[in-house]
Amino acid sequence: ASNLMAGKRGLVMGLANDKSIAWGIAKACAEAGAEMAFSYQGEALKKRVGPLADQVGVKELVECDVADEASLDHLFAHLAKAWGKLDFVVHAIGFSDKNELRGRYVDTSAENFRMTMDISVYSFTAVCRRASAMMPEGGSLLTLTYYGAERVMPHYNVMGVAKSALEASVRYIAEDLGKDGIRCNAISAGPIKTLAASGIGDFRYILKWNEYNSPLRRNVTIDDVGKSALYLLSDLGSGTTGEVLHVDGGYHVVGMKAVDAPDI
Ligand code: NAD
Repeated sequence: ASNLMAGKRGLVMGLANDKSIAWGIAKACAEAGAEMAFSYQGEALKKRVGPLADQVGVKELVECDVADEASLDHLFAHLAKAWGKLDFVVHAIGFSDKNELRGRYVDTSAENFRMTMDISVYSFTAVCRRASAMMPEGGSLLTLTYYGAERVMPHYNVMGVAKSALEASVRYIAEDLGKDGIRCNAISAGPIKTLAASGIGDFRYILKWNEYNSPLRRNVTIDDVGKSALYLLSDLGSGTTGEVLHVDGGYHVVGMKAVDAPDI
């Protein structure tokens, strides 16, 4: 896969540290010869993301808070000036008040509902619209979702509702941009211990449950996600759009607890 992404330029959004899913994807893209830009959310993260950029030879490092339209405009104006064209975008961003990632979904506040939808759903659409204007020869857009969009998972609550909307938006964007040769897909990743995941109640239990009950009998890593992202971002995925690809050790096909699963 050493030249799969050669000559391709892409933006990776959502790096917080070396545990981030975005980092697994960025590493796989770098190894495959892609040239990348990283965006990060605010100055506090720059000291973590800067060294990661250096590790994979990324020179374009731009601050962007996706809740702010002006900040998105600034990011894409920067890329238009630096590169002109874009071949791919990775959106690995989600956020909700962690006080609402426990307890009952039905108690979700209006304010947190709107913020969660804005940052975790609308931002992908806002990014795709801007990115597509820089993809005259086609391109590939990718976001990250979770099984809590399809089934009720403990504590996932408002984020599950947001991920459902995100997956629906992937299908609408695929239709809107498909005639321009732009593909739009999501990866539904199994649980991985990241900064964002640490806000979810009983996350260790969820990790164990998935390890014991998924067909592969293990949890996935950011490198597993990176390899599958490479398929969707590169020409290997040229016939695939509007898809939600599960990278979860097969967990989503399982109907009940495995007979060999130990107690947790
Ligand atoms: P992470 O904490 O490493 O990454 C989340 C990123 O979102 C951070 O870089 C954060 O800065 C960014 N972000 C939040 N609000 C932002 C804003 N307003 N503007 C710009 N950036 C903002 O965690 P992760 O698990 O790698 O999350 C990446 C994506 O993967 C998320 O969409 C998450 O829902 C999804 N996902 C995670 C898991 C898991 O178990 N970790 C499973 C499936 C899907």
